[in-house]
Amino acid sequence: MPRDSRYDILFEPLRIGPKLAKNRFYQVPHCNGGGYRDPSAAAEMRRTKAEGGWGVIFTEQTEIHPSSEITPFIEQHLWEDKDIPALAAMAEAMKSHGALAGIQLAYSGINGPNLYSRDVPLAVTGGPILTFTSDPVQARTLDREDIRDLRRWFRNAVRRSQQAGFDLICLYGAHGFGIFQHFLSRATNHRSDEYGGSLENRGRFLREVIEEAREATKGELGITYRMSLHEAGTHGFSNAEVRDFIEMHGDLPDLWDLAHGTWEACSGTSRFRPEGAQEDLVRGIKALTSRPVVGVGRFTSADAMVRQIRSGILDFIGAARPSIADPFLPRKIEEGRFEDIRECIGCNICVSGDMTGGISRCTQNTAFMEEWRKGWHPERARPKGPSSSVLVVGAGPTGLEAALQSARRGYQVTLAEATTVLGGRVARERGLPGLSAWGRVADYRIGQLAPLTNAEIYRDSRLSADDVLAMGAEHVAIATGSSWRRDAVARLHLLPIPTDPAMPVFSPDDLMAGQGPSGGRVTVYDDDHFYMGSLTAEVLAARGCTVDFVTPAAKVAEWAENTLEQAIIMRRLMDLGVRIHLSKAPEAIGAAEVTLACCWTGAPSTLPADAVVMVTSRIPHDALYHDLAARQGEWEGAGLRSVRLIGDAAAPGPIAWATYAGRRFAEELDMPDDRGDTPRFRREVARLEPGPSRLP
Ligand code: ADP
Ligand code: SF4
Repeated sequence: MPRDSRYDILFEPLRIGPKLAKNRFYQVPHCNGGGYRDPSAAAEMRRTKAEGGWGVIFTEQTEIHPSSEITPFIEQHLWEDKDIPALAAMAEAMKSHGALAGIQLAYSGINGPNLYSRDVPLAVTGGPILTFTSDPVQARTLDREDIRDLRRWFRNAVRRSQQAGFDLICLYGAHGFGIFQHFLSRATNHRSDEYGGSLENRGRFLREVIEEAREATKGELGITYRMSLHEAGTHGFSNAEVRDFIEMHGDLPDLWDLAHGTWEACSGTSRFRPEGAQEDLVRGIKALTSRPVVGVGRFTSADAMVRQIRSGILDFIGAARPSIADPFLPRKIEEGRFEDIRECIGCNICVSGDMTGGISRCTQNTAFMEEWRKGWHPERARPKGPSSSVLVVGAGPTGLEAALQSARRGYQVTLAEATTVLGGRVARERGLPGLSAWGRVADYRIGQLAPLTNAEIYRDSRLSADDVLAMGAEHVAIATGSSWRRDAVARLHLLPIPTDPAMPVFSPDDLMAGQGPSGGRVTVYDDDHFYMGSLTAEVLAARGCTVDFVTPAAKVAEWAENTLEQAIIMRRLMDLGVRIHLSKAPEAIGAAEVTLACCWTGAPSTLPADAVVMVTSRIPHDALYHDLAARQGEWEGAGLRSVRLIGDAAAPGPIAWATYAGRRFAEELDMPDDRGDTPRFRREVARLEPGPSRLP
């Protein structure tokens, strides 16, 4: 379909210094958990963005020196010439379809504990390292000679970036990370020399680095600056100062890349932040500079993007998460294939990959970071193998993805769902406060399955082992999900606790079904530590209950640190008047009270309660699988070749684990199976360094 002229503006080329971007789709730097450890995986992931039509594509944070290590994150390194080949491969992948290739250069300063390199951290003003993990080390203040060294290290990194083939360089000074922000902010710059004090002085280092970068590259590369739009606190680099700075230095970089305040604010989840959340902080900045401006906002709607440009707020539409969820977003807009857009749900599971030192995954785009490791593609499916039919039991996120990907491969697919609603847990969880966008997981897959003639969906069809054997499919996926337990069993209690039957005890499933308490005093016990505990408390508070939130952890929702939500969840619960009991767990549940024990001392206490809601762990629904396994002797006669237990029915986890399990089932159909003797993905093994085993 030809492009709708309403969207033409998104496809107008625009200059960034000496380089011309082919359109306004700008993939801002984003981490992926692969970085220097998985260079080919990271490069191939960027190649899919190029294929998907992005005009500008950036690397993640690339640390320029061993004294700048924001461990334990796995980012890129450009410490020496040896690091060039991996980044050159990345640049080549980015440029493969006409995008500009950008590299983000970072020096972590006060954010770098340097745990691997063991270098003494260097900061604009020395002090304790500011990291998520409160590493017990301080940074030394940079003296003038150090600043000269640092400028030279930047020149070296710029030269190496050019050698690697990049078109654009982004200097990182956003999210509270990056030495440029540390210089600009009075919170982190207490210097009294020519680099401290006035805004002019605090901007000196950035000016020097940009001027030297231009000189080093002979003006052949575009130099951009990524800056925080607002740093909180009395001394923080506020939005007003940001505007003063841009007014003073409007033409300094070739583009201003504007990113909310902290990373938590910039990458806010959909539960707490709507699309376009930073607009108030950006509006008016374009008028202060002749250079183009890019900003983010989890934009997935083409109309919202057009409005940003037409109303003079932005020149480029910046995207990290929307480009992860759908690397083909620009192409789909160009081709008018709006129904094919796989919208980001704003869950931040991608961020958690980086935060945990694992490799990132995406709830929506199951191919993310598997492009090189497994040969998966966000749009294309590999041709099917010799067998032909697949039955998928259960239409939650696992079953929907298994059915969609199997059908795309060309198998004849039957998807059977016990209820009348498709989506499983997503159909329920999308009704929780703030989670409506999560419904896109089901909507996208249902929409994609609908036109496929080789996929049939049966609702209201609870299958038994007899049914499955009678259906004659060659391969069966059991994706029957799980349900929340009510007996306190999870991490702390490995066995059920004594419970008086007179106390009403519920689970999140009950609440999502509209059951459970609607008043009185309720104890929520959270030994899950992610989002469900706080949402349960929110639902109960909205029903007028007085809520006691009990958790054995020292923080509420501690795993939500990895999705950048923990602090905001804490604030939400406090705002709702929820009473928070940390480091405590129920030992016994009486008829009208819960007996708690302190997790450190065992000291008992009692909470009066009219009801209890357990947010603990889940029971996999695997009975159908085991029924079928017990009847393996009948498989051959029924034409059945394989039965796989997948998703929450095998191992309950976040939705991203479920969609991944569905994809994996489909990808592995008709694949030789060595039952785990070798990894089912490619990886890069460290190359042994030539030379003596011991240095003299
Ligand atoms: P997952 O996250 O692994 O997809 P869900 O709990 O979201 O798991 O979805 C499981 C789906 O399977 C639910 O929609 C449920 O109704 C369905 N289901 C469970 N047992 C059967 C069965 N025997 N036959 C058909 N569908 C089933
Ligand atoms: Fe969006 Fe979630 Fe995917 Fe991240 S993991 S890109 S937030 S859908």
